Amino acid sequence: MIKLENVSKYYYSSSNVTCALRKINLEFKVGEFVAITGESGSGKTTLLNIISGFDSYEDGEIYINGKSTSYFDETDFENYRKNEIAFIFQSYNLIDSYSVLENVMATFIIEGMEYNVAKNKAIEILKQVGLDSDFNKKALKLSGGQKQRLAIARALAKETNIIVADEPTGNLDGKTSETIIELFKELAHQRDKCVIMVT
Ligand code: ADP
Ligand code: MG
Repeated sequence: MIKLENVSKYYYSSSNVTCALRKINLEFKVGEFVAITGESGSGKTTLLNIISGFDSYEDGEIYINGKSTSYFDETDFENYRKNEIAFIFQSYNLIDSYSVLENVMATFIIEGMEYNVAKNKAIEILKQVGLDSDFNKKALKLSGGQKQRLAIARALAKETNIIVADEPTGNLDGKTSETIIELFKELAHQRDKCVIMVT
């Protein structure tokens, strides 16, 4: 569903040019759980941003569902980000003053969904990520692992085929990281998502 062909990315400043990605060839499919690893500064975040349509690329070609993105305009990319990509940030990006339930419901309410329908859908998703006993807890009060589960629940609420996560376990201890990675794996394999994770 996403294919990169000889993709290169440069950052330009007044004094120099950084080559962040050099001729990358990759393919991602539904049902895949992909981990991208590499040392700091090797271009992992750049790659995720390009895959997610947050940043541009200079050379090569990216195909999304078979369609070349060379001729995508801003609206095409906006639709792509909105309809295809759920991005999970290392810093969680939760609404701290909202409860667990409200954090997930917010996505549905913004879409204009009726309150009770939104609530039921949110509960269903929270069960999938193992947060079913903390519906009314404020996001601020959650542990790191619970926050990441909630961030994943919010990503699931977007109902996209692709979930992208930049170092989602960076702030978690080893044991908690393992359970989060297991959850990502499950989503990819059992719910037919394509999960792309930098670690
Ligand atoms: P990683 O996520 O693997 O640590 P990045 O994708 O953040 O790596 O960075 C790859 C390279 O591109 C690094 O050399 C970094 O300094 C450079 N870089 C990243 N973002 C920018 C930017 N906005 N402007 C200029 N250089 C950047
Ligand atoms: Mg990075």
